Amino acid sequence: MKVVVVGGGWAGLSAAVELCARGVEVTLVEAGVELGGRAREIRYHGRAFDNGQHVALGAYSRLLAKLRQIGVNPDEVFDRTPLEMHLSRPGGNDVVIRAPALPAPFNLLAAVATAKGLHWSERWALLRCMRNMAVTGLDFVRDRTVEEWLIAERQPPLAVQAFWEPLCLAALTTPPSRASMRVFMRVMRDAFSHRRMGSDLLLIKRPISAAFPVPARRFIENHGGNVVLGQRVSGLNISEGRCRGVRIGEDTIAADQVILAVGPEDARRMLLDCGGTEALVGKMVGIFYEPICTVFLRYPRALDIGFPMVGLLEMTGQWLFDHSPWGVDGLIAVVISGGGKHMRLERQALGQKVAQELAERFPDWPKPEEITVFREKRAALACRVDVDRLRPGNDTPIAGLWLAGDYTYSRYPSTLEAAVRSGEQCVERVMEAAN
Ligand SMILES: Cc1cc2nc3c(=O)[nH]c(=O)nc-3n(C[C@H](O)[C@H](O)[C@H](O)COP(=O)(O)OP(=O)(O)OC[C@H]3O[C@@H](n4cnc5c(N)ncnc54)[C@H](O)[C@@H]3O)c2cc1C
Repeated sequence: MKVVVVGGGWAGLSAAVELCARGVEVTLVEAGVELGGRAREIRYHGRAFDNGQHVALGAYSRLLAKLRQIGVNPDEVFDRTPLEMHLSRPGGNDVVIRAPALPAPFNLLAAVATAKGLHWSERWALLRCMRNMAVTGLDFVRDRTVEEWLIAERQPPLAVQAFWEPLCLAALTTPPSRASMRVFMRVMRDAFSHRRMGSDLLLIKRPISAAFPVPARRFIENHGGNVVLGQRVSGLNISEGRCRGVRIGEDTIAADQVILAVGPEDARRMLLDCGGTEALVGKMVGIFYEPICTVFLRYPRALDIGFPMVGLLEMTGQWLFDHSPWGVDGLIAVVISGGGKHMRLERQALGQKVAQELAERFPDWPKPEEITVFREKRAALACRVDVDRLRPGNDTPIAGLWLAGDYTYSRYPSTLEAAVRSGEQCVERVMEAAN
């Protein structure tokens, strides 16, 4: 069997790795000159950056297994720390939530019960809400927004601001006012109720391309696969209701099966040309993405922040990551997930605003020497209410044509874990169909 995988993001790479591991002949075609898609290293003004700060959770089981499969030790790629949320507030009185080494879910309950910077009534309200979350079935009669749930649970403003909102934005890239409670609850449950290590934070300590895209390519090529870079697939070869390969300009690559591991927009465009896919394409029209901005600030020295990751309450930036522990002294990444007023600012103005707010919050810090802003308008699937209904499965109405990608249906919001799972699930379906 010959399979063409279109798209060299984490979903396409996972699919190609899985196929090669099963002895299938694979050609992976990527439009860009680098592999990794939305999670890759890029060069900008002579410097290398990850195109966004990526954080994983200990619960990301398939991602960790995939790294091991290609010979990467996750401990060499990620800095693993038990859940610790340090949230900086104006005027001090920071909120610190630290999980002790207890089995789940007692680690989270103890973390909240002993949280610093929260009144006992706020801690009690959080514990009550978590208990209700644990006993509520995942399949609500109807999905609703996280905000509606928090109102029904009578959560105090600081509990929302210092706990639920940052968690929801970090996990779903979607603000509580729009985010799906069902998806949020799944992530919370996987992270907090199964194993203690599920809630561990995994922070990338190497360039992200070195973590997966580069070793995945090596694995594919060592197993006889072919990786083609810098070639955009322009269309699909369909005859007698079956996909028989892809077109790249005037050229074609024949295949028994084709996996489209591109974003939903690109997938839609190609599906539209096929005919017979109107219902699938119509469903995918409702898929929206949320942006993520990453502001990198280079300070003249290491800042000795004490925590690798700090939440920033009442600021434009939401999370700050200190790269000094990973050998890049003085480099700070500030992440802003989801839309908002900041998206109307020019990139330079946004960088200045973030730097100014940091200077006010942390007056001891020197002036940054360099500010670089990356803005990904389509960073992650908007996990709105009932998003599950919009996410397609891996099958299409055309025989031999499959979908993979972080937007396809999975238990997870669009994350590295969802991308890896989609690639693996898709290969399962391809193999079932071929046998
Ligand atoms: C700034 C930012 C921060 C993020 N933070 C996190 C995080 O902290 N944790 C987390 O888990 N996730 C995070 N994510 C999400 C994560 O990066 C994505 O979920 C994941 O990378 C999606 O992978 P994918 O393979 O599904 O899609 P993509 O990465 O979009 O891959 C699709 C690939 O297809 C290629 N392609 C498109 N059309 C064609 C064509 N016609 N021919 C050939 N190739 C084509 C594209 O060039 C691309 O390489 C973040 C994303 C961004 C942008």
